[in-house]
Amino acid sequence: MAKEESNQRIKFAYRLSGWSFDGGSKSLLRDQADKILPSEYTAEMESEIFCPVCYTILIRVPKDKDYFSNGRDAYFAHMGKYKEVKCDLRTMRPEGKRYDNYEEAQKAVDDEDLVVISGFLQQRPEAPEVPAGKYDETPVEDINGKLTEVPLGRHSGESFKLPSKITTVAGICRRFDENINRYYHFPNGKLAIRLIDLLHDVRDVTIEDEIPRLYFGIIKNIYCLAENPKPHNKRMTQLQCSSTVRDFRIKPTIEIAQQKGITETSIGRVVIMYGAVKEDGLGLGIENLKWGEFALLPRQYEGLLIT
Ligand SMILES: [Zn+2]
Repeated sequence: MAKEESNQRIKFAYRLSGWSFDGGSKSLLRDQADKILPSEYTAEMESEIFCPVCYTILIRVPKDKDYFSNGRDAYFAHMGKYKEVKCDLRTMRPEGKRYDNYEEAQKAVDDEDLVVISGFLQQRPEAPEVPAGKYDETPVEDINGKLTEVPLGRHSGESFKLPSKITTVAGICRRFDENINRYYHFPNGKLAIRLIDLLHDVRDVTIEDEIPRLYFGIIKNIYCLAENPKPHNKRMTQLQCSSTVRDFRIKPTIEIAQQKGITETSIGRVVIMYGAVKEDGLGLGIENLKWGEFALLPRQYEGLLIT
């Protein structure tokens, strides 16, 4: 039960007073429930919190809020009562999602349970100028990509042609709380994996990795080597990293960093990026991030990644 679930894959619970898994409308729950982090749980929420994937009732572990001083190590777990309801958030090691047939996979795309990504926008699309002084990114919608053959059949070797999206990390961040439990298929990926399981913490990275992956990191320091910085100079952005790594940097140009809202005031914020980890000086980093390949995570979602 609870013990084997201490993997903390349930990032938030739906809370709706009076709702019940037995007979309750799932769409009503999704529309009306509050999203609660394990650290936000209080005793009066007992029997009012539900799994965002299988909708069965959850418990907070430990139940007693005062057990830990700040709720940092608290997590949500399923109840044994609903053991027969399958939910892959119960498992320690997530498996990729597979589909029985094309119709099932297409339905998952239509329902936005599955997102097939065929690429990230390399350049900023033509868009109205952002008002001066406003650093929020101009919202850019996903662009529809080609039908893409993805190997997501339950039977080995079976693949389906599904509609894909050319997206941005900013787009993934925009409704991050909803996206976090969706399945994503990234370019050249073998499986569709929940976003929560695709995100790698930079603090756990100790070696190079040539396969592009999705990473998140906390900005530790921002500086520029140029004396009179120009838009094409690099805004050195250092991220919190493993103690065995000298430093971990991304180096967007000042111009692009500005468009992304990454400024000297962004220290402590979370940045999400898609790329390969390479040596950078004596440390590590992700180089040549293109426009759509990194973004600041809106503050309201930080609690879903950083506890
Ligand atoms: Zn569940």
